[in-house]
Amino acid sequence: MKQNNLPEAAPKKRMLAFTLRLLGRFLLFFAMLLFIGFALQSKMTESLNHEAEKFSTRQGELLSFVYHNLFRAELTELNKAAHLIAAGKITPADGVQAISSNGQQGALLDINGKSLSGIALPEEARLQCSRTLQGEPSWRYYKDMGLVAMVPVYEGPVVRYVLCKLYTDTSLHDGTSPFQFSAQTEDEKVLLYDTAAQRVIVPFHDYTESPFYDAAKDAPLGLDKLLTKLESGQEVDVSIFDPELNADYMLYAAPIADTHFLAIGYREWRSLMTGITNIHLIVLWVFGLLVVLFCVFILYTFANQVAAEESTALREARDEALRANQAKSEFLANMSHEIRTPLNAILGMNEMIMREAGGSIKKYAFNIKSAGDTLLSIINDILDFSKIESGKMEIVPVSYSLSSVLNDVYNMVSCKAGQKGLTFHMEVDPHIPDALRGDEVRLRQVVVNILNNAVKYTPKGSVTFKVQAADNLPDGQLVLEFITQDTGIGIREEDKAKLFAKFQRLDLEKNRNIEGTGLGLAITVRLTEMMQGNITVDSVYGQGSTFTIRLPQTVEQDEPIGDFNARIEAALREEKHYKESFTAPAAKILVVDDNDMNLTVVQSLLEKTQLQIHTASSGKECLEKIAKEHYDIVFLDHMMPEMDGIETLSRAKAMTGIPCRNTPFIALTANAVAGVKEMFLEKGFDDYLSKPVDGKTLERMVQKYLPAEKLEKAAENTVSPEPQTEEPSPVPPAESISPAEEQIDLATALKYCGGNEEMQKKFLTMFVSRREAVSSQLNNDLETMNIEDYTTHVHALKSTALSIGGVKLSEAAKALEMAGHAYCEGSEAERNGHLQYIQEHHNEALELYKRLATEAKSRFNID
Ligand code: ADP
Repeated sequence: MKQNNLPEAAPKKRMLAFTLRLLGRFLLFFAMLLFIGFALQSKMTESLNHEAEKFSTRQGELLSFVYHNLFRAELTELNKAAHLIAAGKITPADGVQAISSNGQQGALLDINGKSLSGIALPEEARLQCSRTLQGEPSWRYYKDMGLVAMVPVYEGPVVRYVLCKLYTDTSLHDGTSPFQFSAQTEDEKVLLYDTAAQRVIVPFHDYTESPFYDAAKDAPLGLDKLLTKLESGQEVDVSIFDPELNADYMLYAAPIADTHFLAIGYREWRSLMTGITNIHLIVLWVFGLLVVLFCVFILYTFANQVAAEESTALREARDEALRANQAKSEFLANMSHEIRTPLNAILGMNEMIMREAGGSIKKYAFNIKSAGDTLLSIINDILDFSKIESGKMEIVPVSYSLSSVLNDVYNMVSCKAGQKGLTFHMEVDPHIPDALRGDEVRLRQVVVNILNNAVKYTPKGSVTFKVQAADNLPDGQLVLEFITQDTGIGIREEDKAKLFAKFQRLDLEKNRNIEGTGLGLAITVRLTEMMQGNITVDSVYGQGSTFTIRLPQTVEQDEPIGDFNARIEAALREEKHYKESFTAPAAKILVVDDNDMNLTVVQSLLEKTQLQIHTASSGKECLEKIAKEHYDIVFLDHMMPEMDGIETLSRAKAMTGIPCRNTPFIALTANAVAGVKEMFLEKGFDDYLSKPVDGKTLERMVQKYLPAEKLEKAAENTVSPEPQTEEPSPVPPAESISPAEEQIDLATALKYCGGNEEMQKKFLTMFVSRREAVSSQLNNDLETMNIEDYTTHVHALKSTALSIGGVKLSEAAKALEMAGHAYCEGSEAERNGHLQYIQEHHNEALELYKRLATEAKSRFNID
C-alpha cells in the first residue's frame, strides 16, 4: 500500500512547491509594481506642486505689478494737486478739498508736520513727513487710523509743504478704498500686509472668519513661512504649498515695489491645476489599469503554468501507469503461457484416460475435461487480452474461404444452442464473395465469441445469425456485417456503456450461475478494432440483444458464396442421415503420410464411400501431386521426415496457379493434446484430425469439406453397419495370455475401424507384418544417434499401435517420443538423461511389439 502511495505523493508535493514558487514570484512582481506606482505618484505630486508654485509665483508677480501701478496712480493724483497748489492755481484748502472724498481725507502739512489744512496726523507721522520733505513720496500705515500717502509741494526748488492723503481703516476694510483686490472669489483671496506695521492693512471680506486667518498669531495663515522664504532672498516673489497649513490652497506673497507692503494670496490648488491634475489622474489611472492587466496576465500565466505542470504530472503518472499495466500484461501473458503448457498436458492425458477407461472413471475424466476446457478458455482469454494490451497481438491476413469459416461457426454454435433447446437460424447473403483475405482466425474468434454469448445469455427462444456485405469499398474491399440477434435477457440501458470494459460482468443477479470472466467482449471489441472494424449493440432489457460486427475484408475472387443456407440444411440432412452414409465417386482426395500403414488405414476406412483416394508418402510428393491435379481435400500428416506437414502446407500456399488453390487442407496428427487444433488453424490448415482416426470422424470430415454436388446418398445396401464398439464380437482370448498381459485391446481396435472386424484384422495383419521393418528402422536410428528420425518413427508407431488396439505399445512409444522431443529441444546437459531413457526403454518397446505380434498370431491367426 505504501509503495502505491509514493508515485502519487511525489507529483502532489512537486505541484505544491511549484505553486508556492509561482505565488512567491507573483507577489514579488506585485510588490515591485506597487513600489513603482508609489514612486511615480510621489514624483508626480512633487512635480505638480512645483508647477503649482511656479504658477502661483507668477500670479503673485502680476498682483504686485498691479498694486504697484495702483499706488503710483494714487501718488500721481496727489502730485497733480500738489503742483496746482505750488503753482498757486488753487488754494491749499481747495487742493485738500479736491483730494478728499468718502473714506479718504486730505491734509496740507508744514515742514514740521503740522496740519495747515485738513485732518491732523499723529505725532509719528513727522518722520514720514520729514522724509517726504526730502522730495520722495511715501506711504505709511498708522494704526487705528489708516494708510497715508505723502507728496512734497515745491515753491521753486524748495519743498514748502507736504500734501497727504489718508485712506481710512474703515474704507480699507469695507472695500471702498481703491486698494481692494477686485477679483476676490472662493478660488482666490488676496490681502495687503504691511511688513513695517506687521499687520493686515487691506483684508478681504470676512478675513477673520476665513480659514486663512491665524487667530493665534493674529496674522494671515502661513505668514511666517512666506516671510522666511522671502528673507532667504532667493526669489522676489514666493509661493508655498503646505498641506499641513492648508491642503487645498497654495499660499503666495509678492512685495509691492517702493512700499513695505506685501500682497498675500490664497489660490485654490485644484482650480489652479485643473488641466495638470487631470493628466496626473489619467497617468495614475493608466498605471492602475496596467497593474490590473499585469495581475490578470500573471494570473493567466499562473493558471497556464499550473495546468501545464499538472498535465506534465498527469502525463508522468499516466506513463507510469501504462508501464505498470504493460508489465502486468507481460506477466499475465507469461503466466498464462506457463499455465497453458501443463494444462494441455493434463488434458491430453485425460483424453487418454477417456479413451481407455470406462464406468465412473470415464465420467470423472469427462468432468476433468469439461473443467479443464473452461480453464483453458479462461487462460486463452487472459493470454489473448494481455497480448493485446502489451501490443504483441498481431493481425495476420491470410486467404480464406468464408464458407469454411461459417461452416465452423455453424458447427460450433448450433450444437451448443441445440443442447440448450434454442433454435439457431443462419442467414447468409448468397452474393458475398467466398474467397476473401483477412485474419481468418481472429474473425472466427470474434464471431464465435458473440454467438457463444448469445447462446449463453438466452434462456429460451432463438439465436439468429445473419451475414451480409454492408458496403463495397474501392480497391476490392468489402465490409462484412455479422449480425447476432437473440431473444435473451437483454442489457440495461445504463449497462451498455460498461459492456466492452474488461472484467465487466453485467446484471450479476441474473448471471450468477453463468460462467464467465467478463473478458470476452473486451477481447472482441479490441480485436475488431485491430482489424479496422467496429461493433455495435442494440438491446431491449428482458427481450433480447443484437450485436453487429462490421469488418473490412479484401475480396480475392468475385465468385459468390452461393446458397450457403441450403448447404447448411443439406449438411444438416447429411448429419441426420449420416448413418445412411454417403458415396462420392466423383470426388478425389489426397492423403499424405510417410507411414504406409496410415495410408492404408485411411484408404480402408473410406473404401465404401467410393472416393478416389490418392496417396503421397512425403511432403515433396504431395507438392508434386497438387501441382498436377485437383483434389477436393488434402489430408496432410504433421510429423514427416525432411519436410513436415506445416512446411508442406506453407509451400503449397505459396504455389501459384495450381489446381488445388482453394482445396481445404486437413492436418492429420498424432498430437492429440488440446490447443493443437488452434495451432494448426493458425498455421493455415482448414481443420484437424487426430490420429489414429476413427472411421466415423473421418467420414464426417470428408462430408464436411466435399463440395455438396459431389456427395451422393449411399444406396440402401451400402449402408454401413452400426459401430460395434460397445459390444465387440467375442474373440477367444489366447489361452497362454493373462488379461493383464494382453497387448491388444479389441474394443479400442474396433473403435478405430468403425466396428468392422474384417478391417481390424487387416490393420492388425499389416501392423504385425511391419514389425521387422519398423524395429530395424528404430534400431538403426538409435545406433546412428539420429534421434530426430527416431522420434518421428516412434511417433508414427504410437498412433499405428493404438489404431490396432496396441495400447501398451502405443504408450511405450509415446514415452519414447516425448524423451526424443526433450532430447532434441533440451540443452546439452539435459540431453544425456533423455538419451539414457531412450536407450533403457527402447528394447522394452520392441519387446512389446514382439509380444503383440505373438498375441495376434494366437488370438487372431495372423502371421
Ligand atoms: P462473460 O465472460 O461474462 O460472458 P463478456 O465480456 O463476454 O464476459 O460479456 C460481458 C457481459 O456482457 C456479460 O457478463 C453479460 O452480462 C453481458 N452480455 C454479453 N453478451 C450478452 C447478450 N447477448 N445478452 C445479454 N447480456 C450479454
